[in-house]
Amino acid sequence: MPSILVTGGTGYIGSHTCIALIENGCDVTVVDNLSNSSAAVLDRIKKITGKKPLFHKVDLLDAKGLAAVFKARAFDAVIHFAGFKAVSESMSAPLDYYHNNIAGTLNLCRLMQAHDASTLVFSSSATVYGDAAVSPVTEASPLAPASPYGRTKLMIEMILRDIAMSNPAFRVSLLRYFNPAGAHESGLMGEDPRGTPNNLMPCISQAAVGRLPRLNVFGNDYPTPDGTGIRDYIHVMDLAEGHLKALEHIGRTGAIAAYNLGMGQGHSVLELIAAFENASGRKVPYVFTRRRPGDVAVLYADPAKANAELAWKAARGIETICTDTWRWQKGNPEGYEGS
Ligand code: NAD
Ligand code: UDP
Repeated sequence: MPSILVTGGTGYIGSHTCIALIENGCDVTVVDNLSNSSAAVLDRIKKITGKKPLFHKVDLLDAKGLAAVFKARAFDAVIHFAGFKAVSESMSAPLDYYHNNIAGTLNLCRLMQAHDASTLVFSSSATVYGDAAVSPVTEASPLAPASPYGRTKLMIEMILRDIAMSNPAFRVSLLRYFNPAGAHESGLMGEDPRGTPNNLMPCISQAAVGRLPRLNVFGNDYPTPDGTGIRDYIHVMDLAEGHLKALEHIGRTGAIAAYNLGMGQGHSVLELIAAFENASGRKVPYVFTRRRPGDVAVLYADPAKANAELAWKAARGIETICTDTWRWQKGNPEGYEGS
């Protein structure tokens, strides 16, 4: 049974990936400092899969604490989700972002090297392409992140390339996620950020359930058919399955490879609201506000490389994303700790 370490495994994407890993016969260990998640998710994982991952409440910045995790168990592979992820927060607190995301990754990589764990799947992001990206973006599109958060992702990609060059055993998959959304189909797990969410889908669902008074739609004057921004929304379970495929295919096309994980289709903010209203039968209260600084009009993936090299394709559309999000939100209006 492959032994997998999942950093950030109690977070949104990490927890859903734990389900896919366990259901595919992996033995899962989670490390998380719970800065943006709740340990209650571990019981939900058990409810769904019958198995609870081994959990260490450890900060990746705590090298000693992390070393103890590596001493306790050998890992065949590491999936590295842990990090801060809010673009706007990274602009007001860049030092926190560089420190947490980069120093945490360096500690992790040092321990991987010391323990001969040489397979790593890293959560990168479409933000590495930056403001000027022309959609659909391929992995060969220019890399020019427009925020400290995006730059931490690109810097980590570069660090991992250097490590792979220096260590012939090291194999890395860089997964550039587009817009993760949706929830597990059971309704037991979903996105539950601490504080006010930043991403569109949790704002829509929290506005629908009354946890937020309304959704602010950031700009209706973009050069798009309805004036609102267009993004590539990908179901979190499709994303989770992408990590399994990345593990399966890692190293086959070189020591390190980057992949776009997206549907390859764009949807506007208003289209997503309409799909959500349809799936939930609820009105989503919203107002148009000014554009959010740093947002591009249109960003969607060309996922052809992941389709071909990882034999992976996102299968669930925005209707499923909305139905599953609503099932989670209405069953858990205050998230994990409120239920
Ligand atoms: P999340 O905040 O739900 O999960 C991240 C987890 O990492 C949280 O549980 C948090 O407590 C933990 N964490 C943060 N810093 C840590 C540290 N120093 N030590 C230990 N644990 C720490 O976020 P998510 O949406 O699940 O994103 C997972 C990864 O995917 C992140 O690296 C994020 O940058 C990346 N990503 C997310 C999106 C998105 O829109 N959700 C898009 C592209 C990339
Ligand atoms: N958005 C919005 N209101 C919100 C959050 C997001 O109108 O409260 C818009 C945003 O301008 C963008 C899209 O929704 O066009 C997706 O934003 P999100 O923050 O989810 O992801 P991003 O693509 O910025 O990483």
